[in-house]
Amino acid sequence: MSTKRTIALIAHDGRKAEMVAFVKDYHDILKEMNLIATGTTGSYIQKTGLEVTKKLSGPQGGDAQIAAMAAEGTVEAILFFRDPLGKHPHEPDVQMLLRICDVHNVPLATNPATAKLLLLGMTDAK
Ligand code: PGA
Repeated sequence: MSTKRTIALIAHDGRKAEMVAFVKDYHDILKEMNLIATGTTGSYIQKTGLEVTKKLSGPQGGDAQIAAMAAEGTVEAILFFRDPLGKHPHEPDVQMLLRICDVHNVPLATNPATAKLLLLGMTDAK
């Protein structure tokens, strides 16, 4: 079984460009991890050359699938660049994911500055 650490990446449409820039900046760290992503975010990440397992698109249930992984303990951290300025049909799923992370004490970064600290912290803690 793989000993790689598993993290999930999600970006709302208004934040996808930031996510792509982020994964390029941290490519060397991320390529050593198992990456999970919601569908469309995952497609963008794949284009940067990283391997990623894609779940459903967020509005189709992808956030809920990643929340389930957080609840089950199969994802170690989540980078979720959500758009605080947009309206989302799946807002209940977004809130559910945030709540599940807090229930299960799963590290969650909702912007690139925090995501950077989280990734570097995970690297130090290796
Ligand atoms: P997407 O989903 O990566 O499939 O766009 C993200 C979201 O909207 O939660």
